[in-house]
Amino acid sequence: MINLETPKKFQPLVNQAHQVATEVFRPLSRKYDEAEHAYPKELDMLASLIDGMNEGSDIGGAGAAGVRRSAKSDGDEGNRNGSNMSTVLGIIELCWGDVGLLLTMPRQGLGNSAIASVASEEQLERYGGKWAAMAITEPEAGSDSAAIRTTAELDGDEYVLNGEKIFVTSGDRADLIVVWASLDRSVGRAAIRSFIVERDNPGLKLDRLEHKLGIRASDTANFILQDCRVPKEALLGSSEVETDAGEKGKQGFGGAMQTFDNTRPLVAGMAVGVTRAALEETRERLAEAGVEIDYDRPAFSQHAAAARFLEMEADYEAAYLLTLHAAWMADNSKPNSLQASMAKAKAGRTCVDVTLGCVELCGSVGYAENELLEKWSRDAKILDIFEGTQQIQLLIVARQLLGKSSADLR
Ligand SMILES: Cc1cc2nc3c(=O)[nH]c(=O)nc-3n(C[C@H](O)[C@H](O)[C@H](O)COP(=O)(O)OP(=O)(O)OC[C@H]3O[C@@H](n4cnc5c(N)ncnc54)[C@H](O)[C@@H]3O)c2cc1C
Repeated sequence: MINLETPKKFQPLVNQAHQVATEVFRPLSRKYDEAEHAYPKELDMLASLIDGMNEGSDIGGAGAAGVRRSAKSDGDEGNRNGSNMSTVLGIIELCWGDVGLLLTMPRQGLGNSAIASVASEEQLERYGGKWAAMAITEPEAGSDSAAIRTTAELDGDEYVLNGEKIFVTSGDRADLIVVWASLDRSVGRAAIRSFIVERDNPGLKLDRLEHKLGIRASDTANFILQDCRVPKEALLGSSEVETDAGEKGKQGFGGAMQTFDNTRPLVAGMAVGVTRAALEETRERLAEAGVEIDYDRPAFSQHAAAARFLEMEADYEAAYLLTLHAAWMADNSKPNSLQASMAKAKAGRTCVDVTLGCVELCGSVGYAENELLEKWSRDAKILDIFEGTQQIQLLIVARQLLGKSSADLR
């Protein structure tokens, strides 16, 4: 087993995140799984604490807002562990506690990652300190985000947004929604941009909240955008529409897609945290049942349950290492689309397989609501769906390895 040490400077953050997971998240886990749509008010004070940790630190924080790439490549400056790594490590610990609660942590939304990744200094100043959700998905555009129909039309000093957005995580609770819309639908993906919309904008109408299989502590909202006016300055990136290959294109749809290179390792980190929680619980249950796991003997010569556990743990290790690798590359300004998708695909699938495998190994204890194993197996599935499904991640990996474009392989 490869046993990487946590960089020393991140150890206090990891310890704090683990403490929060143990003392705050775990005790609230079942409560907000049952009380779907009730806001976990206990998180308010915690969120302020995390803000304080982030402000006093130059290494990023424990939540999604921590990621930001430096503009210049520091590839020649040696090995760097920065905000992407610290954020992933913090997320793994917090999701060991509860992934639904992490997803509804104020000011740590995926919209915050988008803003942190691509916003100008003025926008960071203006929107910093607010909680931002991300609205890409529409009834006709899920995996194929280039198919979005929401439009943004310039009218004087404002853009007017019209369309429908579904499945917006934290959409009801956040202060801001980062809305993806097209400046010109006839141009296709090159015209897609993201806009920061204040949640209380009268043109942004909450349609409904979803009831879900898992992550029930996290709200999932659907919106109608009806003549929703935002200032010109709410546009993230360039307003000029050129082809994706051009510099302007990189600041537009290409730039928005690059946000995923930062956020996919975070979602992979969520999956790694939930997987570790299930494995640790199962290890204890197996020990109670007298099943010993021996790392010095081949799996085939051990108890069948121990062999299955070793197999699941190997998958967990692979997912963990791929996740750290993708985050490390982001910190070192190395292009990491391939590794971010590999990490997300492996960690998402592993989380689903392992959490269900743990329910299976623990039998009735795994299935009952007295423990959290059944909950983790429900929470796991979304981690293999949002931020790009399993199949989409594999498609991206295949394109990159085979040198094919999205038009060649879809
Ligand atoms: C709880 C929850 C929270 C969410 N939060 C957000 C959020 O905050 N913001 C946001 O914008 N979206 C969010 N989403 C939406 C999520 O990102 C989409 O559900 C996801 O992108 C898949 O889109 P879809 O549901 O339309 O499925 P589809 O794209 O219709 O896909 C259906 C199936 O077909 C497969 N498939 C699609 N295309 C291909 C292909 N080319 N090759 C092979 N297989 C393919 C998919 O993998 C999937 O299995 C959330 C969803 C849920 C359930």
